[in-house]
Amino acid sequence: MNTIDNLKGIAGKKILVRVDFNVPLKGTEVRDDNRVVAALPTIKKLLSEGAALVLMSHLGKIKWGKVDDAEIAKQKEKNNMEYVYPVLAKHLEGVTVKFSKATRGEELKKAIDELKGGEVLLVQNTRYEKGESKNDAELSKEWASYVDGFVMDAFGSAHRAHASTYGVPEILKAAGKPVALGYLMEKEVKNLGACVKGDNHPYVAILGGFKVSDKIKVIDSLLKKCDKILIGGAMAYTFLKANGAKVGNSPVENDQLDYARNCFASGKILLPVDNVIADGFDNYNKDNIKVTDDENIPDGFQGLDVGPKTVALYSAEIAKAKTIFWNGPMGVFEDENFQKGTVEVCKAITENKDAFSVIGGGDSAAAAKQFGYASKFSHVSTGGGASLEMIENDGHLPGIDVIG
Ligand code: AMP
Repeated sequence: MNTIDNLKGIAGKKILVRVDFNVPLKGTEVRDDNRVVAALPTIKKLLSEGAALVLMSHLGKIKWGKVDDAEIAKQKEKNNMEYVYPVLAKHLEGVTVKFSKATRGEELKKAIDELKGGEVLLVQNTRYEKGESKNDAELSKEWASYVDGFVMDAFGSAHRAHASTYGVPEILKAAGKPVALGYLMEKEVKNLGACVKGDNHPYVAILGGFKVSDKIKVIDSLLKKCDKILIGGAMAYTFLKANGAKVGNSPVENDQLDYARNCFASGKILLPVDNVIADGFDNYNKDNIKVTDDENIPDGFQGLDVGPKTVALYSAEIAKAKTIFWNGPMGVFEDENFQKGTVEVCKAITENKDAFSVIGGGDSAAAAKQFGYASKFSHVSTGGGASLEMIENDGHLPGIDVIG
């Protein structure tokens, strides 16, 4: 792997580091600084080599399109990287950390030119530039012209070929400048790589979450690698309906029923055998929460979590596994009445000490953290979409491939 350990002679050189500082915000406050912390090993290593670091990341979404300037200004204010700046500065105590409000042009160029070895410049949200998400050639060229090298350490954005993740390294590499993967990327590629290869059997995947349609490509890929796929979450009801069960008012993607039926031919799909149900999603009557006897859900009710028999069935499969990949909660884990399935799956996975266990980011990572299990997994990915795409594409992501 082409990592920063291979970078030599970078003292005093300006290195653009694409980090993932897409942190959750509450107003102007960073709610969880995990992503900043996750980038520190790479930042510290490059600083110890004497490089001058230009850190770039996106933060939230700026919806360009048919909106007026006032709306864009509002979105920019909401997703302002200046809120992350003090958090980074605190983690890098003793290091000169500056902030650039400018995302391109003379002001940014000057700030980078003035940056000395051992110093850090955090740049405003890359998505303040309309061309970022389009991998705009002019923008990539401009950013690339300001620096001597590039390090990719934003795993959560590695599935996107944007200017800051793809265009810039492509240009610098072609010009013979140093480009490399950071330590966070290295860790993600190594650990997810075990789930991409899936050499160690039994290989059990646990898939949940809302939509089947979001997961089709990953299901197709996992069907080739895995021995069993355990299905939970709202997407289970589409599979249950396709299998002839009654699903009441549960959310179903009717246009995915044929796809679900085709998956059964593999013999690898396991579905819930009981469900925790209620008479509504958020306006349900607490006294009407029930556990079904079997997979069927009566009219007037909807499934909101997997039931205890399902937990036992899935836990038994999990206990036998040597490789485990988990993406998507088993139920509405945000509500304490419907979190048991997700908690029990966390428990079962972490009790299997022989297995290599990976959470593919997103809501399942949040759930494992919330319930106190995250540190017991072999690996918790920092990228939801990126980890799924990595499995789907046999280990390839634009932000990795471009580094080479
Ligand atoms: P995803 O973003 O596809 O991973 O879906 C995660 C979301 O699906 C979480 O917010 C869960 O609360 C939700 N979810 C999981 N199970 C259910 C269910 N049975 N009914 C409705 N929503 C669910």
